[in-house]
Amino acid sequence: MNVCDLCNVSLGADSIRYSSKQIKKAVGAGLRPDSILLNFGTALGMSKAETEQRWVQQVMSGNNDWLLCPICAARFERFIP
Ligand SMILES: [Zn+2]
Repeated sequence: MNVCDLCNVSLGADSIRYSSKQIKKAVGAGLRPDSILLNFGTALGMSKAETEQRWVQQVMSGNNDWLLCPICAARFERFIP
């Protein structure tokens, strides 16, 4: 079962796929993950800022597509032209 790359909910047939190129553009424009994902980092003892920074580095150096739930996809769309 796939989960949303931004908020970790289980995805249904209405999930939307984005390419790594679109993702990097959106993250470069200020897109950040849902606080649920940042809480994973803080649970491991990292600060929220550190978790966010690591997440951005990981995204920017990665080449994976994302699958997003409709709610996150709507949020994502606001960061890409
Ligand atoms: Zn989501």
